[in-house]
Amino acid sequence: MRKNIGLFWLKDDFRLKKNFGLIEATKNHNQVVVFYLYKKKKFKNQESQRWWLGKSLEEFKKKLLIYNINLEIISVESYKSFFEKLFKIKNYSIYWNKTYEPNYLKFDKYLFKNFELNGVKYNIFKGNILNEIDEIKKGDGTPFKVFTPYWRNAERFYLDKIPSIEKKISKCKKKITFFKKIINEKEIFPKDNWSKKFEKYWAPSEDKAYSELKNFIKDKIENYSEARNFPNLIGTSKLSPYIKHGQIHVETIWEECIKFKKKGINKYLTEIGWREFNHTLINFFPHMLKGNYSKKFDKFPWETNQKFLIAWKKGLTGYPIVDAGMRELYSTGWMHNRVRMIVGSFLVKHLLINWIEGEKYFKNCLLDYNEANNVSGWQWVAGSGADAAPYFRIFNPILQGEKFDREGDYVKKWVPELKKVPKKFIHKPWELKDKNILNLGLDYPYPIVIHENARLKALNAFKKI
Ligand SMILES: Cc1cc2nc3c(=O)[nH]c(=O)nc-3n(C[C@H](O)[C@H](O)[C@H](O)COP(=O)(O)OP(=O)(O)OC[C@H]3O[C@@H](n4cnc5c(N)ncnc54)[C@H](O)[C@@H]3O)c2cc1C
Repeated sequence: MRKNIGLFWLKDDFRLKKNFGLIEATKNHNQVVVFYLYKKKKFKNQESQRWWLGKSLEEFKKKLLIYNINLEIISVESYKSFFEKLFKIKNYSIYWNKTYEPNYLKFDKYLFKNFELNGVKYNIFKGNILNEIDEIKKGDGTPFKVFTPYWRNAERFYLDKIPSIEKKISKCKKKITFFKKIINEKEIFPKDNWSKKFEKYWAPSEDKAYSELKNFIKDKIENYSEARNFPNLIGTSKLSPYIKHGQIHVETIWEECIKFKKKGINKYLTEIGWREFNHTLINFFPHMLKGNYSKKFDKFPWETNQKFLIAWKKGLTGYPIVDAGMRELYSTGWMHNRVRMIVGSFLVKHLLINWIEGEKYFKNCLLDYNEANNVSGWQWVAGSGADAAPYFRIFNPILQGEKFDREGDYVKKWVPELKKVPKKFIHKPWELKDKNILNLGLDYPYPIVIHENARLKALNAFKKI
């Protein structure tokens, strides 16, 4: 009988290093099966992620075989319906790592109760985070709402932890199968051609994540504090999709960084800190996943304008830095952080469109989409978040372009219609009166709103709340 079976529920944990649940399963059992539950409807509005997921499953499956472990993918309607059947089988122990989203953490409690009732041994482990959500609170036991004091505490708390001896995955004795109805990862890849473009830019795997981190520390981290603002430089690590899918653990990032006493490390780890902070926020204030963290924004007079929304999504607003960002997103599944802030600000302030529309579109396109960072990022931009940019601070897309894309190289890369436009006009092509270089309205759109008018309108709208 399969008495000695360990099951590992794989979520966003596509790594062997610091995969605490999987490592423990292979330590305790000589027969282990890893299973992934593919909930198709979850990915209905997360199209680009299906590509990364499919690739990750393909790669991880091969990697696990070396350890005599099968990865079985099961298509499910809901997690609950799947587990209801699993509770009834009792010849295994089950392991998984935490996912720091309120729904998952709530579901964990349901699983504990039912595994216990059915006499199945379950084991849950730390997920991809430095500190557990509950570990970092203010002196009075309430959650932090401001980043700087949060991170001061979180960083100190993490530094004080006794480093654990790193355990490694063990090879299983025998490869076995467990589930009857499994699917192939090929069924997960999107059917359209859109995601094919991603192949050019990304190689989803644990090894790639690790080598990207090492290269970043070696060549880039020293200049990170400054270079991170310039979208044309590859000044950031571009690790976000790997972190999102757990191809690298943030503890590994931390450990690799502090080995080097290089300038830039603190700033870089602080950004990892923002990710931690955002996960804390969504768990203590889950209402912000569905709407404004700050309730006063519930009365904000947002406008509905399909024409504007489509122009924004397509990168046809007439503001080059905004359009470049939106086209980078569509082509690569990723967008530079500075530009995320610019395009976000443009949507909510210049176009007065609710941030929820932007959040939805990013969710569908971003390969690094994660609930905590996306919802918090959007609310930071909109001013409705916990520690957000004030609404009245309105980015001027022309000045932002001139400051952070001085030569216009980023714009020219993603908006090729503007390739011949001289530097002086690259962020305000409507001032160029030479039709031989650019025929505005034909080659590239006129701005859909006038910056100064839009700014005043936004400030007036803000006064209403
Ligand atoms: C409107 C908006 C939406 C966003 N949506 C997401 C999202 O869905 N997923 C996502 O991972 N990030 C999101 N971000 C945060 C940030 O833009 C990305 O994490 C960053 O651009 C990823 O690139 P990188 O890996 O090169 O970052 P680096 O600068 O190299 O930073 C390293 C890591 O730190 C974390 N990080 C960096 N900046 C931030 C930040 N501002 N907030 C939280 N974590 C950060 C990420 O995990 C990142 O991979 C959003 C930001 C905005 C303004």
